[in-house]
Amino acid sequence: MFGKYSKAIYGGIAVAGVVGVWRFTSSGNSCKPFPTIRSKHSLVAKHVTPEVWDKLSNIKTKTSGFTLEKAMATAVEFDNQHCGIYAGDADSYKDFAAVFDPLIQEYHGISPDAKHTSDMNVDKIKGTIDPRAPVHSVRIRVGRSFEGFGLSPGITKQQRLDLEKLLQNALNSLGGGLKGEYYPLTGMKETIRQQLVDDHFLFVSGDPNLKVAGMERDWPEGRGIYHNKEKTFLVWVNEEDQTRIISMQKGGDVRAVFKRLAAGIEAVGKSVKAASGKEFLLDEKYGYIHSCPTNLGTGMRASVHVDLPGWTAEGLGTLQARCEQLNLQPRGTRGESGGQTGVTYDISNKHRLGYSEVELVQTMIDGVNTLYKEDLKLQRKHKLIQ
Ligand code: ADP
Ligand code: MG
Repeated sequence: MFGKYSKAIYGGIAVAGVVGVWRFTSSGNSCKPFPTIRSKHSLVAKHVTPEVWDKLSNIKTKTSGFTLEKAMATAVEFDNQHCGIYAGDADSYKDFAAVFDPLIQEYHGISPDAKHTSDMNVDKIKGTIDPRAPVHSVRIRVGRSFEGFGLSPGITKQQRLDLEKLLQNALNSLGGGLKGEYYPLTGMKETIRQQLVDDHFLFVSGDPNLKVAGMERDWPEGRGIYHNKEKTFLVWVNEEDQTRIISMQKGGDVRAVFKRLAAGIEAVGKSVKAASGKEFLLDEKYGYIHSCPTNLGTGMRASVHVDLPGWTAEGLGTLQARCEQLNLQPRGTRGESGGQTGVTYDISNKHRLGYSEVELVQTMIDGVNTLYKEDLKLQRKHKLIQ
């Protein structure tokens, strides 16, 4: 699938100021100096060897002129990255496959010949979240991208604007319960923006990783949010991914949220196709294409906001370890980079690739039920309840 648009353009001159040693390929062409990778234990440090760098550092991708240097900027800049790499367009996964392939296999634990499968059939979900669990809300999101536009770290200014226009038109044609309006970030009243953020509907700027990865260039131009009247169906435009399609509601009805998401994804896909002929970028091996390799596959994060006072008393480290065993990921309630408040956590599926959407939602439901039961025991242990 990538093959169609993966032709690389060779060239480019080394950026002044990069710490490293000038290198020459066997053909005598000068390469960019091998960068100092501050995240020494990252997957980038493991897979970007001087030999790989020599082969790839002069490549510029066709769709957005992306380079390996740009892709691995966070691993170079920060010392705390686990992966440390982003794709600037779908071509990046092909042109820099010598880095991405082993890195993706290692991160997701998949074999080189693994194929991704998708399953959005809500009827296959078994059971639901225990109605006694103190769940505030459910949210499920996926990312989707379209051919011909860069991904957020590489997308050009013009591509970003063109994509926004395409999505605005396509989204405005949605009907039924998905019917809503697109609100660009540019010109949005500050009080409205802040309210959308506080109510957990809208993304924020300022995440250091996204910034260094190039995802906040020209902020806020070209970004925005679409939502229906009830704010149960939302689409983020040009944040970390070209689109994030989101279904959410108060309470713990995961099935209803999943069902709306499935209908929403299908409707968005159809209306973009009708408007432009373009389909979602889908790779046989890696599923739906996202800017962050950790999101490849389903790109799906199914979460609940749930109170866990027992686990809070026990300590965040213990909760993290338990979530790891249950294939879950805990976050604070202010989003990935926003931090934690009180005893409420965002608990979601940890995996994205190698499992279908149905399987991942099931993992979340079962895991949250387990955490809830254990939380009651921990509350007794810490004398929070009798
Ligand atoms: P994403 O993985 O979609 O980028 P973030 O962690 O950045 O998610 O969070 C984005 C926003 O979604 C934040 O405001 C966060 O609180 C909100 N959110 C996440 N899960 C839920 C949920 N189950 N209920 C309500 N809001 C949620
Ligand atoms: Mg995010």
